[in-house]
Amino acid sequence: MSADYAVAGKVPVPCWQGPCPECGGEATYKWQPIADGRRQIRASCRSCNRFLGFAPHSPPFTLHANAARLAQDAEVWPAEALLALEKELQTLAKDRPGDPSDNVLHVGEQLLAVLRERPKTTVWIGVTDGEAGDAEAD
Ligand SMILES: [Zn+2]
Repeated sequence: MSADYAVAGKVPVPCWQGPCPECGGEATYKWQPIADGRRQIRASCRSCNRFLGFAPHSPPFTLHANAARLAQDAEVWPAEALLALEKELQTLAKDRPGDPSDNVLHVGEQLLAVLRERPKTTVWIGVTDGEAGDAEAD
């Protein structure tokens, strides 16, 4: 923390939280594989796609990246993963780690409600963009 921030009593916002220095857009987070098999959370601008940095492996950034991966790959998560996600979302709602935005809290609450109400036999949950089938342009 620099002296200026300490005097003002403000915590500096890390570059990977946005807003984008180029266009002021919001940050978006995606898992990115590294050559050695590990993965990192890449932050980029939602509007101009500028690279903003790498976010820590903690909520709410893991939640953003997981949701993006679910939406992109329609990945099937085992029941244990859904349980772990439910616990993480409960922590998000209760402790608000990383000072999440209202949008993150809202989406987290919605997803948590879906997870809480899932039938016991649920083995996966999908996320879509509302487009039917292969209607996406990319
Ligand atoms: Zn931008």
